[in-house]
Amino acid sequence: MIVTGRYVVVDPAATKIVRDGAVLIEDNVVRQVGPREEVLRGNPGHEVLDYPRGVVLPGLICAHCHAYGAFARGAPFRASPTRFVEILEQIWWHLDKRLTLEDTYYSGLVTAIEAVKHGTTLMFDHHASPYHIRGSLSRLEEAFRRVGVRANIAYEVSDRDGEERALEGIRENVEFIKAHKGDEFITGSFGLHAQLTLSDETLERCVEAAEGLDTGFHIHAAEGIEDLMDSLRKSGRRVIERLHAHGILGPKTIAVHCVHANDRELMILRDTGTHCVHNPESNMNNAVGVAPVVRAMQLGLRPKLGTDGFTMDMFREAKVAYVLHKLHLADPRVMPAPDVLRMLYANNAELAAAYFPRPVGVIKEGAFADLVVLDYDPYTPMDEGNFPGHFIFGMDSSHVRTVVVDGRIVVEDRVLKTVDEAKVMEEARKVAQRLWDRLYEPP
Ligand SMILES: [Zn+2]
Repeated sequence: MIVTGRYVVVDPAATKIVRDGAVLIEDNVVRQVGPREEVLRGNPGHEVLDYPRGVVLPGLICAHCHAYGAFARGAPFRASPTRFVEILEQIWWHLDKRLTLEDTYYSGLVTAIEAVKHGTTLMFDHHASPYHIRGSLSRLEEAFRRVGVRANIAYEVSDRDGEERALEGIRENVEFIKAHKGDEFITGSFGLHAQLTLSDETLERCVEAAEGLDTGFHIHAAEGIEDLMDSLRKSGRRVIERLHAHGILGPKTIAVHCVHANDRELMILRDTGTHCVHNPESNMNNAVGVAPVVRAMQLGLRPKLGTDGFTMDMFREAKVAYVLHKLHLADPRVMPAPDVLRMLYANNAELAAAYFPRPVGVIKEGAFADLVVLDYDPYTPMDEGNFPGHFIFGMDSSHVRTVVVDGRIVVEDRVLKTVDEAKVMEEARKVAQRLWDRLYEPP
């Protein structure tokens, strides 16, 4: 297959662009990138997705999300949370206890559909369904494969529903990670909820269970001030320090949020090679504070960008990251557009490299064929120098026209090709209604 565009942005973080370019895809891999005429002439007989006015970008990556939260949209919660922990108790921990395997499957389908239609081709998902743990990751996998979105999946181990369920969560992670060794499309990581719901004993059990699996942990860290207070009370250590003391951090571990991390903790994250993930819209919505992402970059960290499930739109998340830190620090110089693009593309691709065997986030020979074509016809000149400005101020997910994941056309001319979208949505509404009907029944 050959995909052409007026602009082929081979590396958005480094703003490398091929004008009137084309991408040759064989199987699930990019084989050649170059001028359109040259690629077409040299490779006759290929199917051509021809977008002479389009912009071809590498697929976007979401470094942290929760498909399981899908059916919270519009749900009749009897909740009036006044602070972060109450949001967890009254909404998320209330919902996840009632999720069946069917709910999990449909949440995976609708989330993957929304993600890919917004240009996201790889997501790092963090799942919870404490009353139906066993097999839940396989149901999510089934959903992501059916839609055609690459994913890394984890089950969030927690003590909040008792020891038996914590142990079941550990088993679910271990079995899933083992079964997906060498898989190029769906991989596993070891999920942990957050230090505030994990005892020393459970953390030790997780580290022991992860031994030899060549994996890292995916954990919420220092999201709300309550997490920091809890850690200090329990251990005398701050959140990142406590996780470090238990051997949770490392080059495959994902520390999500890190809002209440000080310089010393940021340096621990840096020195252990741990990936911290920034989710600005979720942080704003939960009123937990602004993550010290600008400071983290100054200290040499390479923060990643996720949505936490607040949206499945990485274009929007990138724009919010761009404006939030300027307002927060009252300084228009911070978080310039190139820094946002580095987070979204280079840094997220660095995380992906810890779990997948080929590069993503760039269009180059040998990379996975994960591409997005935008209907973006700029009304001012666009070149390598000003591409970041066009990305932040011009492009958004409404321009997403065609999406290729793993060499397969998942969205073509705005139509989902892999599943009957209307049918899935109709069925999902029924599943959601059944879940809402038992929302205040015992799980
Ligand atoms: Zn999260």
